[in-house]
Amino acid sequence: MVVGIIGLGLIGGSMAIDLKKDSRESEILGYDRSELHLQTAVKLGIIDRAVDLEGIMEADVIVLAVPVGAAVDLLPWLLDRIDKQIVTDVGSTKASLCAQVENHPKRPQYVSAHPMAGTEFSGPWAARPGLFEGCAVIICDKEKSSMDALNAVTSLFHSLHMRPVYMNSVEHDMHAAYVSHISHISSFALALTVLEKEEDTRSIFNLASGGFSSTVRLAKSSKDMWTPIFADNAENILPVLDTYVEKMQAFRAAIAEGDIEKINGLIIEANRIKKILLK
Ligand code: NAD
Repeated sequence: MVVGIIGLGLIGGSMAIDLKKDSRESEILGYDRSELHLQTAVKLGIIDRAVDLEGIMEADVIVLAVPVGAAVDLLPWLLDRIDKQIVTDVGSTKASLCAQVENHPKRPQYVSAHPMAGTEFSGPWAARPGLFEGCAVIICDKEKSSMDALNAVTSLFHSLHMRPVYMNSVEHDMHAAYVSHISHISSFALALTVLEKEEDTRSIFNLASGGFSSTVRLAKSSKDMWTPIFADNAENILPVLDTYVEKMQAFRAAIAEGDIEKINGLIIEANRIKKILLK
């Protein structure tokens, strides 16, 4: 099977690296809008062959691994041109993309997917083997995809050692606002707060303990990936953000009042997360 990957950054690049090792994949074609990223992917041996956007049509399965804003334009473009090829994507928001192609005649040849794996780094330099090992891949609105398309895409994710989880695209975006989008906003806001208050960056560096570094890690993530996600999922993010601001205000009020019991209460309530995450 020939796989064509559009977008050779962290996700597309990491998929290419592991798919190249799989004997079922005969060739990995790659295209990226950035000539630098495309040539880097060739130089690093991430893909077998660089092609242009038309050349990606040589593939049997096409993976769209670009920021969600770009996928909104590229997915209909691809569906307009494919013959028997199957298309999947890896975007972090799913509802608007699924809605956009809902009535497209080639909709059955598209499988909407979101691999639940990643890091705060981007570009082909960030791609690495084993990124997806043991992680879930959310397949959305599977009833809209043909059995052939589902089988081909599931088998592709199986070769990355991922397990499929099925979900409605609207529900997916609501859950993603809780488990992923809010933690990134919180980390960006924490970084902005510390940078504003601590002008002496060297003292941040010297004092940064494991706790600070791990909480602020996500703030290293790229604007190219996250701005389109926040814009696309605003409807789900805003109510979560309102609750988050309420919780921050509860801490602020308890600390300002010196109300030890209230502070203890908030922390004990938050500790319930231990039972859910078990580590
Ligand atoms: P990235 O920035 O590392 O890579 C994106 C690549 O797409 C870049 O090489 C960029 O040049 C290229 N690109 C941008 N617009 C393009 C266009 N119009 N045509 C062709 N190429 C284009 O980002 P990433 O982390 O690999 O994210 C890719 C997708 O995967 C996004 O939709 C993101 O939401 C999703 N995703 C990311 C993570 C994560 O943790 N990073 C996890 C799961 C899903």
